[in-house]
Amino acid sequence: MFKKIVIATGNKGKLREIQHILSPLEIEVIPQSEFNVPECAEPFCTFIENALAKARHASKHTGLPALADDSGLCVDALQGAPGVRSARYADKVSDLNTNQDDRNNQKLLQVMANETNRHAHFYCVIVLVRHEHDPEPIIAEGLWAGEILSEYRGDDGFGYDPLFLDDKTGKTVAELSLDIKSRISHRGHAMAKLLQKLEKLSNE
Ligand code: IMP
Repeated sequence: MFKKIVIATGNKGKLREIQHILSPLEIEVIPQSEFNVPECAEPFCTFIENALAKARHASKHTGLPALADDSGLCVDALQGAPGVRSARYADKVSDLNTNQDDRNNQKLLQVMANETNRHAHFYCVIVLVRHEHDPEPIIAEGLWAGEILSEYRGDDGFGYDPLFLDDKTGKTVAELSLDIKSRISHRGHAMAKLLQKLEKLSNE
């Protein structure tokens, strides 16, 4: 098992969840911001390709094993959009009063305004590379099915959390605690699978 890994994300919401999930383990988890890792391009049209690029990039710049998360919201009525473009679904504007998550949510509300099919899922792929050129990255994925609401509910979390209703609890993600979200989310499922794979490898 690793003693130290770098987390290849600048997204504070993702970082908080990944740190929470890894906290019971004896691994030093370091955000890539501590190494001033430059931003990594995400030009690909699949989550897995973008996650691999981010993990390799962070490992290259830090010399450490790196874990990357690429994730997004896939809406059935929108043929899987915003998908890999979830973080930048709405155009950037120089309006200092709104943040990118708010603009993305506003755009989703607008696009879905007259839509009756509200089914959607979050998808997450986690990639762990032991070094920049690791030919055998450890990869795990997770999915979380739910519905898109037509108004915001809840204050916690990030991204599309206030618009995504979890079918099983009847709550939006923004109404769930960090602990519960980490157990049932796309990221929680992917991380659990990744940790199982790591344990298996360390027993071989
Ligand atoms: P990435 O950084 O390119 O992987 O984009 C991730 C984007 O997907 C985030 O900025 C959010 O817009 C969305 N997203 C992924 N996971 C979540 C989540 O757990 N809650 C809400 N939005 C999420």
